[in-house]
Amino acid sequence: MRTNLDHLLSRLRNVGILAHVDAGKTTVTERILYLTGTIHKRGEVHDGTTVTDFDSQERDRGITIFAAAVSCDWDGHSINLIDTPGHVDFSDEVERSLRVLDGAVALFDAVAGVEPQSESVWRQADRHGVPRIAFVNKMDRPGADLDAAVDSIRQRLHVTPLVVQLPIGEEAEFSGVIDLIKMRAYVWNDGLVECPVPDALLERAVRRRRLLEETVAELHPIALDEFYARSTLSAETLAVVLRDLSLSGTGVVVLCGSAYRNRGIEPLLDAVIAYLPSPQEVPAVQGLSDGALQERVADPAAPFAALVFKVSSTATGRLTYLRVYSGTIRKGETVVDAGVGRTERISRILRVQADQHVEVHQAVAGDIVAVVGPKSARSGATLCAPAAPLVLEPAAVADPVVSVA
Ligand code: GDP
Repeated sequence: MRTNLDHLLSRLRNVGILAHVDAGKTTVTERILYLTGTIHKRGEVHDGTTVTDFDSQERDRGITIFAAAVSCDWDGHSINLIDTPGHVDFSDEVERSLRVLDGAVALFDAVAGVEPQSESVWRQADRHGVPRIAFVNKMDRPGADLDAAVDSIRQRLHVTPLVVQLPIGEEAEFSGVIDLIKMRAYVWNDGLVECPVPDALLERAVRRRRLLEETVAELHPIALDEFYARSTLSAETLAVVLRDLSLSGTGVVVLCGSAYRNRGIEPLLDAVIAYLPSPQEVPAVQGLSDGALQERVADPAAPFAALVFKVSSTATGRLTYLRVYSGTIRKGETVVDAGVGRTERISRILRVQADQHVEVHQAVAGDIVAVVGPKSARSGATLCAPAAPLVLEPAAVADPVVSVA
């Protein structure tokens, strides 16, 4: 049982998309849900037929795209996409959504590069220690320039970009990418086709891969050793080292694509799994219990503790969105809202999936779920086992003593 849960947890990713308004967060989210089979109809933001505003049935589907959290499956993994508010300020809501993420995709516009709003959300994510990968979107736009966008990431965000793709074709001709780790080409026509690197791009691809190898060798001892010994790096070493560098925040893996044209989303999902952490790989959270600081790790057998990060009113009732940090909660159990000492009953546990709320019997450490039952727990509240009360967010979330990744 335990091993089974550990296995499931290692295959879970709680991620959000951090973006400047207009960078394409809605379009990327919609493409991800479409590709993972979570929604079955494509719409375009351009012509007012997105899943959110098509007709009433489509509006219902909007529960997925604009839900506080939506679960989807990719390559044997579960991904919980957590909504991060589009308006970027220092409100509790933004801070709280960053807090419940384990990793994030930072979205940039291939023409504009890093914009002021992207800088401020990047800093907020830095403060919360959220590992990130970068996706340079809108590669099909006139003036799209991956190299310039990468330079702006380096200069304005003060992080080392680890560019793992070379675009194939420019602007309207953008048709695919070369994966510099596998040295294979991925081209989108009607669907995704994998093929050898085209001869015309081989020399550039080899140069870019060399640059990637040199960059990681400067940052990682394993890469440096292998680089000295063999004067090149294997795909396996690159994969291991890139994951380490990404999880530690030493570098940021950069990918590119065009969400509007449905190009680059599959590699983006692969990268979410490859380079962002599972709930077991993030530091323990801290909270206050009887005035003393206490740590909780993502252990399903530990006492239950979860942070409420959003409350919404829907046809299903009052939905309380939880990030479970430790322990297990089962349908029908009673928990306590530790900050106010009030008891709440968990009558249903739901996952937002495939255009609907799917009822589940339990949620374990690392999970993100919506529950029905709590009548008054507010966003920011800690729900926990009555026998082991803990307040995860005692004062302002920015309080350095209690604010943890
Ligand atoms: P959000 O504000 O970040 O949620 O951005 P949206 O997803 O609403 O996109 C903003 C605008 O950019 C819309 O008109 C989209 O159709 C457009 N857009 C999104 N992705 C792309 C892309 O890859 N290429 C182009 N050319 N336009 C895009």
